[in-house]
Amino acid sequence: MCVTLWILDATAIISGRFNYSRMMTIPEILEELKDEVSRIKLELMANVRVEMAREPFISQIIEIAKETGDIHKLSDSDIRLLAKALELHKKNQICLLTDDYSIQNVALYCNIPFMSVAKKGISKGFKWEKICIGCHTAVTSGDICPVCGSKVSIRRKKNEIR
Ligand SMILES: [Zn+2]
Repeated sequence: MCVTLWILDATAIISGRFNYSRMMTIPEILEELKDEVSRIKLELMANVRVEMAREPFISQIIEIAKETGDIHKLSDSDIRLLAKALELHKKNQICLLTDDYSIQNVALYCNIPFMSVAKKGISKGFKWEKICIGCHTAVTSGDICPVCGSKVSIRRKKNEIR
């Protein structure tokens, strides 16, 4: 694999394992790295370029994450990191470095190449579903079951692999 541009999430930066010539992240990820050790690691990685995510890519990622169910698991900076990857992946050969399964799952759906930092990455896509904790009905929207009024929990959907 000939990767030219590496996009890093917070765990990838904190790991301190990566020092490629072309690395990139978004400002929101840097804001997550408040502790001193992370900052020092970031300073050592002097060639990390920082760029803001843009529309329409942010909206596209939100739509895809709604479809896969990952929207419930992704933070705002996760969505923006994916949006940046989606934007750059159209013109560059990129690889997203992340251990977050929901980020990996959305990346998979968008055909964005990714690699795990420490954990073993997922190889197949999956969807999340909301299930009522009372009567086990699949709930499509909201956090309360329309059938029995119990709370819903999110779990990985079985047999939903593509
Ligand atoms: Zn219920």
